[in-house]
Amino acid sequence: PAEGAVFRLEGVAAGYADCAVLRGVDLAVRPGEVVALLGANGAGKSTACAVAAGDLPATGGRILLDGVDVTSWPAHRRARAGILLAPEGRGVFPGLTVEENLRTWLPDPEPVYERLPRLAERRDVLAGALSGGEQQLLTLAPALVRPPRVLIADEPSLGLAPLLVRQVFEVFAELRERGVALLLVEEKATEALALADRVAFMRLGQITWAGPRSEVDGERLTAAYLGVG
Ligand code: ATP
Repeated sequence: PAEGAVFRLEGVAAGYADCAVLRGVDLAVRPGEVVALLGANGAGKSTACAVAAGDLPATGGRILLDGVDVTSWPAHRRARAGILLAPEGRGVFPGLTVEENLRTWLPDPEPVYERLPRLAERRDVLAGALSGGEQQLLTLAPALVRPPRVLIADEPSLGLAPLLVRQVFEVFAELRERGVALLLVEEKATEALALADRVAFMRLGQITWAGPRSEVDGERLTAAYLGVG
């Protein structure tokens, strides 16, 4: 199932201090594909995102971008190679307005405003004064203008009003069209499943099942969350 994948985790282990969290995680994402990583609280999904992005070291296994072993690369090097973790505050200046923030890396913010109208409404507001949800939108803007190879979205809808959740998922759908490989971690399984091409269930730091979205039904979902799948 890893065939054609641009981004892969192979047997990845990781944890915090003396607390092992991930135990041999395998994940693969192809270009133009959304993989939803689902599982109960504490399963290790955020940890998997942090390891994938290089914010947390892997203690075992390998992480591959285009077949290149990037396991030992720090986060900034992975980012330059096209692995983007969102939503993250990286690169957002709280003391600049939304417009000024966008203009630090974009000559023309209009394409961003078209896709994320809320940012247009807030263009003259200091980024530091935005709501948490609006800041999340701002961190997604770079991905729209320069699509990354791999987008790792960790709880992108957390704290967002329904309208903003829709805007974020529309952005993801557009990025998929443009060939981005998207690893999506979501507590809101319904929204994630609506977008996903493939699904991976995580429990106690391991992938318990991975396969096409079409094979995920209510029974499989219940089993995955209750730990009997
Ligand atoms: P949630 O949706 O609740 O964030 P998750 O599936 O993303 O769940 P993680 O956040 O990866 O799970 O947490 C996995 C385990 O690692 C949990 O037991 C958690 O307590 C522990 N953990 C997470 N972050 C840290 C940290 N910075 N230091 C120590 N332990 C941590």
